[in-house]
Amino acid sequence: MSKDGRPIFGTLARGARLCCPVCGRATVFQSPFRVRHHCPSCGALFQREEGFFVGAIMINVVTTEAAVMATAGLWLLSSASGGGDSLLLPLLFAVALLFPVAFYHHAWSLWLAADHLVEGLPRRRPDA
Ligand SMILES: [Zn+2]
Repeated sequence: MSKDGRPIFGTLARGARLCCPVCGRATVFQSPFRVRHHCPSCGALFQREEGFFVGAIMINVVTTEAAVMATAGLWLLSSASGGGDSLLLPLLFAVALLFPVAFYHHAWSLWLAADHLVEGLPRRRPDA
């Protein structure tokens, strides 16, 4: 299955591996928590106009909320909650603080993959 010649599962898999969604030959990050401006291999722009990062934040917020809810659900279903809920709030607080930091890179990469699927990532101009 593909959209305008861009394979959906292949593009999302590149995003999940933190690779360029266009070519898959380079990573999206030049160092931890630092997104490259563009792909050194194919020139796809990773940092576009102001506010482009809001989609990555949205993905991170939604997945963090899902992780918090899943943790709460698992806690309530597990035998660990037999002693009460005194540890539940600290646990959820820790998940809410740590999950978005741990998921930051994947949120950015998946946002780039989704944007590439919808409209295609623009290429860097040769003189830029
Ligand atoms: Zn590339």
